[in-house]
Amino acid sequence: MLLSASGRGPILSFDFPLSRSAALGRLAAFLPHAGSDYARHRNEERGQGQHHAVSRLSAALRRRLISEAEVAEAVVRMHGAGAAAKFVAELLWRTYWKGWLEQRPSIWHDWRADCARLTKQGLPEGYAAAIEGRTGIDAFDAWLRELRETGYLHNWARMQFASIWIFTLRLPWQLGAAFTFHHFVDADPASNTLSWRWVAGLHTQGKAYLADAERIKAQTGGRFDPKGLAITADVPRETPSPDLCRIRMPTPPDPQAPALLLLTPEDLSLETEMDLQALDVRRVVACRAHCSGAADLAAVADGLQRASGHWRAPALWVDDMKAALAVAQQDGVAQIVTGYAPVGPVAESLAAQREGTEVRIAEHRRAWDERAWPYCRKGYFALAQHIPALLDAAELAPLRA
Ligand SMILES: Cc1cc2nc3c(=O)[nH]c(=O)nc-3n(C[C@H](O)[C@H](O)[C@H](O)COP(=O)(O)OP(=O)(O)OC[C@H]3O[C@@H](n4cnc5c(N)ncnc54)[C@H](O)[C@@H]3O)c2cc1C
Repeated sequence: MLLSASGRGPILSFDFPLSRSAALGRLAAFLPHAGSDYARHRNEERGQGQHHAVSRLSAALRRRLISEAEVAEAVVRMHGAGAAAKFVAELLWRTYWKGWLEQRPSIWHDWRADCARLTKQGLPEGYAAAIEGRTGIDAFDAWLRELRETGYLHNWARMQFASIWIFTLRLPWQLGAAFTFHHFVDADPASNTLSWRWVAGLHTQGKAYLADAERIKAQTGGRFDPKGLAITADVPRETPSPDLCRIRMPTPPDPQAPALLLLTPEDLSLETEMDLQALDVRRVVACRAHCSGAADLAAVADGLQRASGHWRAPALWVDDMKAALAVAQQDGVAQIVTGYAPVGPVAESLAAQREGTEVRIAEHRRAWDERAWPYCRKGYFALAQHIPALLDAAELAPLRA
């Protein structure tokens, strides 16, 4: 039994790789199904414990125990670009949402402020029934239970769940996004917040996703027959998307200077990055404050062990960034090197410590993100049309544990 992603409430059944070797194992097992099988069956929602038509790699990908580049490369190598196209296109949604939020960070801050405001003014009627699975809408209540018990929902179920929350139950999308962010084992600031906005009709202005009872019945093999679903999508009235920001330029690692390597749930396979091989790592640290629950703790512990072995440097858990900086100073190293932290709590924690310290906090941004994010300014298609070029440009080392 594992604690929930947030550390509260138990997850009863767990099926999501949280170490690099488990992620590589899951990828190897899923690879034969990632071609035409995936394209044909990926939207079939077969119920708790039966999601074999999809990879269930998201908890590992979200923490970069395994990277998008590695997964894409393996799938294309086995199936060829044509048959792999659907899986790779889905994979690139993660890249797209990350790149998009990097260029509109105020959406993340506004979402959190909205949640605080909505909670302070009193949770809306129907909220308690929704989060306790007492709405009487069979599919919604079952997905709610599945989410609480496993920390996971199939992508198609997530779309229906969010749509019913917003348009049938008429609850604020922000509170729904907060609930799933708290419970998903793959909880991700970009994919979660922006997918909820997409369902609500706020991403592509006015284009909402409306759950349909007949479709739910068909896609779930008749397991559900939901009654009373909204038949129109009343798109929330909100200010349009904020203007584009430039992509944040991180301080790059100094390859000459001794470093303390900081591992966070944002990137847990830095040892696979060619640019970091020669780094003079004196110690590897992780902060408990960067882990939002048991899943993060397990994944970071795995990352620490690998990085410590790879760079032959001792590993250490500390409470927070202040303690990490103190360790750097004690060790006499002038830089902390970590994986790039996209918009979210880890980035905020790093930013808060940058002021007032002489230790350089450097971030390594992967070439995959560097290449893809400039195409993540508009709709997904602007990125999708560059997928072949992105795959060509990715110089990928063979997968290794
Ligand atoms: C309302 C809503 C909230 C979501 N919140 C999250 C979240 O917090 N964290 C998260 O990782 N994903 C989120 N997603 C995206 C998606 O549902 C999950 O990544 C996917 O279900 C994970 O299952 P899988 O690994 O079996 O996917 P597969 O179908 O096997 O896909 C392979 C990989 O492609 C990526 N991917 C596939 N579909 C999407 C998508 N629509 N958006 C982004 N990446 C995708 C994921 O990395 C996934 O692991 C959300 C989707 C919706 C509709």
